[in-house]
Amino acid sequence: AKRDCRGSALVFAERHEHEISKVRRIEHELYTADLDAELSIVFQQQFDTALNCTTGYEVLARWNSPVLGQVSPVEFIPLAERTGVICRITQTVLRKALAASAKLPQHIRLSVNLSANDVGSTPATEAIIELVEAAGQPCRIDFEITETAIMRDMKQAGDALASLLTLGSRIALDDFGTGHSSLTHVQKLPLDRIKIDRSFVADIVGDTTSRAIVKTMVDMSHNLGISCVFEGVETPEQLTTLKALGGTLMQGYLFGRPVDEDTMLTQVAQEQAS
Ligand code: C2E
Ligand code: CA
Ligand code: CA
Ligand code: CA
Repeated sequence: AKRDCRGSALVFAERHEHEISKVRRIEHELYTADLDAELSIVFQQQFDTALNCTTGYEVLARWNSPVLGQVSPVEFIPLAERTGVICRITQTVLRKALAASAKLPQHIRLSVNLSANDVGSTPATEAIIELVEAAGQPCRIDFEITETAIMRDMKQAGDALASLLTLGSRIALDDFGTGHSSLTHVQKLPLDRIKIDRSFVADIVGDTTSRAIVKTMVDMSHNLGISCVFEGVETPEQLTTLKALGGTLMQGYLFGRPVDEDTMLTQVAQEQAS
């Protein structure tokens, strides 16, 4: 039995080491990556169920590394945030989003995700502003940022968001409800919308507590005059429940998975024609 214990401890140590070296490899490849060539963006529909039309798409990063293959953003974004590469990633994603935006009709907006680093220093935010301004008006890029990203330096982040607003961009508070003092943020920051986290949507059909919480969030957003988007809507039952609670703006697999640019452009053209 003793030998078994030592054996599994050894296996654990080896596995742990393996995990660490995997993280180091991803960090290294990311740091030396040709971001413009290796990063691409996909688009996930945001749908207005009251107007019965697509209002925009969230832009999501995809990394195809020549060494590591396809790496999920869930893996590489946190590492990029730690090493500071994230600012270059944001700028690459934004540049590609601006190019795609130029091919879309006026009423379709694109939402780009920001990290704490992007609103954590004036030069980082200025780089974003310059890219948007260089692409010319009118601006049809919106931004999403999580509560945790804003919390790192509320004053700096608030100023950064205010300067993005002057571009004509709208700001959404992402993963709403998962942070700590959500209501405080909504009040203090220049926000246009909240995006209610997928975890609430997942629980909503069976769980009366989740429904009560979501109802409170919807009512609060209406009272504050900001809009409210639900993410991770997967089933017709979830949609019915969300609509009954006053929800209108939806995103999730029920409406569409993230798609490439050509597919998105075709979808938009088809919806225009119908
Ligand atoms: P997020 O901002 O919350 O983005 C939504 C994630 O949920 C996306 O995963 C999307 O594909 C997924 N999703 C959408 N609808 C559904 C659904 O109905 N069911 C389920 N189970 N999932 C759904 P993805 O593309 O893997 O991105 C994961 C996270 O990585 C994003 O979460 C975001 O935090 C981050 N991320 C992705 N691209 C970027 C980027 O360009 N910049 C930054 N800073 N973060 C990014
Ligand atoms: Ca997002
Ligand atoms: Ca989100
Ligand atoms: Ca989320």
